[in-house]
Amino acid sequence: MIRPIVLYGSEILRTKCTPVSLEDPKLSEFIQDLWDTMYNANGIGLAAPQIGYTLQIFVADGTSLAEKYPEVANFKETFINPVLLEAYGDLWTYEEGCLSIPDVHAEIQRPYKVTIKYYDAQRQLQQKTFHGLAARIILHEYDHLQGKLFIDYLSPLRRRLLKKRLQQVKQGKIETVYPVVTAEKARLFTKL
Ligand code: ZN
Repeated sequence: MIRPIVLYGSEILRTKCTPVSLEDPKLSEFIQDLWDTMYNANGIGLAAPQIGYTLQIFVADGTSLAEKYPEVANFKETFINPVLLEAYGDLWTYEEGCLSIPDVHAEIQRPYKVTIKYYDAQRQLQQKTFHGLAARIILHEYDHLQGKLFIDYLSPLRRRLLKKRLQQVKQGKIETVYPVVTAEKARLFTKL
């Protein structure tokens, strides 16, 4: 089921997420909703707080960008209760965006590699190292689970330049091709 995406300005996007029970009978359907919502919005990653749930889950599929970034050729994964073990390697820059902050893009520096421990969609514990764009998507989504957004990395000057646009997003004065819910109307759920 496609769910509306919570827009910038909501406290939901600033809340630290908590682990989810792997045995929760609603978990599989919720993960499917994350996929449906992400694909409908042409996204490459989506975290639970972006649809209102402050739970440690995100999904990522970078395969549409594989032509330019071969490291994401097979990168389609569900991350449940992830723990970032290490982010390392050279910093590199890429223009990021976020489905919760429509039409705002900015070049962000992130480490090239990441080692992360998580449960996959089959509830199997995994520990893997990802690099390049895969690592970047993971770091962006993992940040969401900590209540952090990519614009937090911008310099005060860059943020000031985006201030008006961010204010418009906050007030819902934007147009998107996918359903959204404004900060004012979004509801926070701590359980499935
Ligand atoms: Zn995002």
